[in-house]
Amino acid sequence: MIPEGSVGAAAPSQPLGTAGYPDEDSTFWTPKGYVKSFEEYKKISSKTYDSLIGYPANVTSINSEPYGTQLRKYGFLFGSNEKVSDDNCGKIYRKIQCSTNFLHHPGFKHLHCNDPGCPVCYTKYAAQMADRVTERVQGYKTVYRSKRDAVYHLIFWGPPENKTRPYAGLREAFKEANRLMELMGVVSATVWFHPYRIKKELKPILRRYKTINGLNGRVGFWKLAHDDVLGLGGLERYIEYGPHWHAIASGWLMNTTEYKEIEGAGYKKKRYLESEETVHETAHYISTHCCREAMKSSVRYFGNISYRMLAREHVESKIKDVVCNDCGAPLEEHDCDENGVCIQKLKDSITQKIKYYLYWKKGHPKPDMKDAHQCLISRFSPAQLRS
Ligand SMILES: [Zn+2]
Ligand SMILES: [Zn+2]
Repeated sequence: MIPEGSVGAAAPSQPLGTAGYPDEDSTFWTPKGYVKSFEEYKKISSKTYDSLIGYPANVTSINSEPYGTQLRKYGFLFGSNEKVSDDNCGKIYRKIQCSTNFLHHPGFKHLHCNDPGCPVCYTKYAAQMADRVTERVQGYKTVYRSKRDAVYHLIFWGPPENKTRPYAGLREAFKEANRLMELMGVVSATVWFHPYRIKKELKPILRRYKTINGLNGRVGFWKLAHDDVLGLGGLERYIEYGPHWHAIASGWLMNTTEYKEIEGAGYKKKRYLESEETVHETAHYISTHCCREAMKSSVRYFGNISYRMLAREHVESKIKDVVCNDCGAPLEEHDCDENGVCIQKLKDSITQKIKYYLYWKKGHPKPDMKDAHQCLISRFSPAQLRS
């Protein structure tokens, strides 16, 4: 299991940057860091072994010059490796379809390499990170219910010198975030560090790309940059240093003008995140391009939602059937080729184990289960899984 506290993808066991990735051919990425074999991984983590679908990643260098120069200087991101770990990354191998009508929004399973730096597989890591964050934020909402505690998406940045001076690392960046949030009046926050922004001059071009290709507003610029839609040669060519933080925060904030006068810094308060879906959507997108570092969590909790203040306990598990979103019929799992053409049926129905968690204020008595039932939070799962 990934230990409590290390939300987000764990990073390689060796520091990134000058040391780079371990270069033995036989190493591959796991949520526990780099290991030499599946046997070794099984030893250190028997529980997560089952969920390690796919194949060992051939860990490719992210250090070939000149690509990576900027990343080495200011920090690595999810999906910022120059190349995919393996040509099969992202390839479809299973199809999940409705048992009564195969046209009802089929789903697929993809091969993935377990490296959060992989430009194809990073989205899976970002989604897992968003799942954990969503569960905790939803748990926080059951405990803190006043108007002041309502959560919103907050973007903030530091005084001008921060815009030219790189942070020594995540630790320093989060320390500065805490200082600024305290000053602003934030009482609780889940925080991510973004060392980069999309280059200003590319924004109109990316906007035009979206229009021409009929992409809707939900496709963000970072997704286009990760996919290198303009053919510039990689994510690094779309970005420039521009450190700032994103948070799912709550608290009445200091007036922006006043804040600017004190710090020369600024913030933007975006939409309130009332539903579980909006929390997840926001957490997922922010995670796809946040800074990641060796053996450190890429997201931190501050104030009332922190591990110091908010207690959590797993109280029950349920096995649920996963059914078709369109008609409620059971879903089947098929072996399929890379184009999604079914080869043979493997399962007549699909179930999922859902874990429920109870949250309460640390230092206060744990709520009685009888009263707490409506406060149980399950880890975020697709709409069809939730009752
Ligand atoms: Zn991959
Ligand atoms: Zn159906």
